[in-house]
Amino acid sequence: MTLGTADDNDDSEEPEDICDLCGLLLDGDYVSFAVVADSSAVHDQSDHLDGQRIVLACCDQHLTERRASYERRPFVEAELWAGQIERARRRHPAGLTEQQLRCEAGLSVHQFRQAQAWSHHSKRLPPPRQDPLGGFAAQ
Ligand SMILES: [Zn+2]
Repeated sequence: MTLGTADDNDDSEEPEDICDLCGLLLDGDYVSFAVVADSSAVHDQSDHLDGQRIVLACCDQHLTERRASYERRPFVEAELWAGQIERARRRHPAGLTEQQLRCEAGLSVHQFRQAQAWSHHSKRLPPPRQDPLGGFAAQ
């Protein structure tokens, strides 16, 4: 897990960041952030960050609360693999064979089967934001 702060305020056209706990607009004067393990995090642009999520907060207390909510959420490898399969499907809307899909997702046969089983039979985990113990307090 990585911790850090950033205080640059570039004027790029990226969407504005908000505190992941209270929803406060982060104007760049002070941003507290951490990288947390999250098996539901699959990124469209950077496969190597799969399973990791950047959490932003307006203060250290809110960052600590958000990190704690992710630490309570189980990391389920099959959920991560299922997300990687879904990303592969999005990248190839015309369709792929099962073997092509498995290769595109970078999964072994065993991982592919585990992901399918998870998708069909497992109870979906709520995102930490909806965890009542996580203290989400958006208005
Ligand atoms: Zn906050």
